[in-house]
Amino acid sequence: MAATQQPHSHVDADDERLILDAIAKWLEQKVKPVTMQLEHDDEYPAELVEDMKELGLFGALIDPAYGGLGLSATTYSKIVMLIAEEWMSLTGIFNSHLMMARIVERYGTDEQKSFWLPKFASGELRGGLGLTEPDAGTDLQGIRTVAKRRGDKYVVNGTKTWISNAIEGHCVALLVKTDPDAEPRHKGMTMLIVPKIDPVTHAPLPGVRNGRKLEKLGYKGIDSGEFIFDDYECDAALSLVGGVEGQGFYMATGGLEIGRINIAARGVGIAKRALRESVAYTQVRKTMGKPICEHQAIQLKLGEMAANTRAAELLVADAARSYDTGERVDLEAGMAKYFASETALSVATEAMRIHGAYGYSKEYPIERLFRDAPLLCIGEGTNELQRIIIAKQLVKRNPV
Ligand SMILES: Cc1cc2nc3c(=O)[nH]c(=O)nc-3n(C[C@H](O)[C@H](O)[C@H](O)COP(=O)(O)OP(=O)(O)OC[C@H]3O[C@@H](n4cnc5c(N)ncnc54)[C@H](O)[C@@H]3O)c2cc1C
Repeated sequence: MAATQQPHSHVDADDERLILDAIAKWLEQKVKPVTMQLEHDDEYPAELVEDMKELGLFGALIDPAYGGLGLSATTYSKIVMLIAEEWMSLTGIFNSHLMMARIVERYGTDEQKSFWLPKFASGELRGGLGLTEPDAGTDLQGIRTVAKRRGDKYVVNGTKTWISNAIEGHCVALLVKTDPDAEPRHKGMTMLIVPKIDPVTHAPLPGVRNGRKLEKLGYKGIDSGEFIFDDYECDAALSLVGGVEGQGFYMATGGLEIGRINIAARGVGIAKRALRESVAYTQVRKTMGKPICEHQAIQLKLGEMAANTRAAELLVADAARSYDTGERVDLEAGMAKYFASETALSVATEAMRIHGAYGYSKEYPIERLFRDAPLLCIGEGTNELQRIIIAKQLVKRNPV
């Protein structure tokens, strides 16, 4: 299919510094004072979302022609790292949304781009990516949500689960089956942009509701929820991405590339924070008459944590740079996602050991990093799947 896959924009170093400085100031002044409370109360950060709209984060990757900032993946990944160093949950609120936007921008019709993208870029309409179902996660082609064409509408029935921004968001890029009997199965899969509210009047629409909010180990504050569709009707011209059926699987996996770079960047943010806290703590905590940073057992940990964190950061930079050329980057994004998420998990775990009881305390940030990190090994394709993707890409790119 004819996807508009062009090189993504470049942001010059001065502009990038200005953007990162503005984000750092916001994190210090507005986010840091409330992170612990919002996290422990599992409260949606509504006021911070308003700030994020003003900072342009909901349009970070959207073309300026539609009101976005048009940032490169390189600059974007640095923003994600910075925010995840403070509170990872915030990054999910705009990243899932931008994956939905990227699908419209890459594969949508001109009418769809002009209709949806300005609303997405301003944050007036926010949303995410609806792939997973109760019986289908990794095996995406096993989804059962069905959309049937009826005149100029699609009628949708089915249930999605674990969808980020399902409750607080307004729409979702929904992977459905339009031909459940198709073989191979992906040929019967289609992508729809589906609003929960009327996109203009914001009145609730019939036929769609959120089930329960899902309770989680970490990733607090951001809502993860179900979507239940019961004879839900949407307008085919606005919803059927690209005006074509049968391309949904391709569009979904294309959207996941930037999602995987984002997950990897979150992992680097978590690892950097855990390392920073550990480097500071080991200089003030004393045992046997000296700071613990002078014990070789602790030095071995810090050395390994630092090397892995830096390696993960470089893999993210590599994947983002390749993405910015406009190529498919399943291999590079897969490697960055796999390595950075495993690094986040191991560095957060070592940070907890280094902090002793204080690592286990809810009054310090380490326990949050330790709870947040495992999600990165699951979301946007599990790390088992990532290694399979990497292997398949290696074989594809190196035929004998
Ligand atoms: C907090 C959170 C937020 C999420 N947000 C979203 C979202 O916004 N949108 C969305 O669509 N989904 C979302 N998900 C769902 C997530 O994408 C899925 O959980 C993930 O794809 C794995 O699917 P599953 O949980 O069904 O596991 P399963 O697919 O059932 O896998 C179970 C285990 O088997 C392994 N496995 C499966 N198949 C293979 C294979 N072929 N070879 C080797 N190993 C295999 C897996 O790696 C895993 O270890 C979210 C999940 C969480 C926890």
